[in-house]
Amino acid sequence: MKTATKLLCYPLTLAAVVISVLLLPSMASAQPVAKPKIRMYLFNNGEINGLDASEFNFKKEEVKSTDFIVTSELIVHPKGILLWESGSVPDAKLPADGSPYKEGVSIVTKSLASQMAAIGYSYKDVKYFAMSHLHSDHSGNANSLVHAKWIVQKADRDMMFAGKAQRVMDASLFSELKNADTILLNNEDYDVFGDGSVRIISAPGHTPGHQVLLVNLADTGPVLLAGDLYHLPEEIATGRTPTFEFDPATSAVSRAKVQALVKKTGAKMWIGHDKATHAGLNFSPKFYE
Ligand SMILES: [Zn+2]
Repeated sequence: MKTATKLLCYPLTLAAVVISVLLLPSMASAQPVAKPKIRMYLFNNGEINGLDASEFNFKKEEVKSTDFIVTSELIVHPKGILLWESGSVPDAKLPADGSPYKEGVSIVTKSLASQMAAIGYSYKDVKYFAMSHLHSDHSGNANSLVHAKWIVQKADRDMMFAGKAQRVMDASLFSELKNADTILLNNEDYDVFGDGSVRIISAPGHTPGHQVLLVNLADTGPVLLAGDLYHLPEEIATGRTPTFEFDPATSAVSRAKVQALVKKTGAKMWIGHDKATHAGLNFSPKFYE
């Protein structure tokens, strides 16, 4: 039986190979240009717990939770690697024995570098670095990305180096970026790899140069990394913004712009700090393609 099956299979396999080789050139020319193979890893950079709902202009009973997750994403594109966000605490502050590090309302268990190392990457591999905005819970390891091309909106960069204290900003976390090779954007969108697959979308308001990221994945589909366009999902229906919003009226315009983009593209929107959203997601070493 075995021999018979082999004998039967061999010519069939050979025929299949011959047919596919003959068909290949014509099929290739008839098909649209293949989308670049992009892989997106999601990192857990800790939690921020026990925040007061009133900071977000809500009563306690109006929101499900004010406990936040802190996240960052590594986007591996054939033309280079983009790191989006950088955690809330510099890796160097984490205890060497792996025990959790606590600072105020923040708690961090794993360094960003160790999560990148677990999938074979280091900060040095990062070609492009961008944060949604200048706040300290996004710029924890910004100084480790000084070698990368920094993509930032001019309005945020101006505030970062104006020498003036700002709420939720720690200038020591990003001081090295001042002399980084910088792609400076003027409240504009930016196509990171030039093929439409990874786009920075200007969405000011939370800070003067807040931005979000639209990643077009071949299998997963488009994903909108919303940064702090919203903090609590309850902000979507109510239109409320936190007490520390830079310019709520501008935020409303940005939210409308991003919601229209989400509708047009069918993107899934991930609110950066929303625990409920991230509870259903695959963190690194798993990935999205
Ligand atoms: Zn934040």
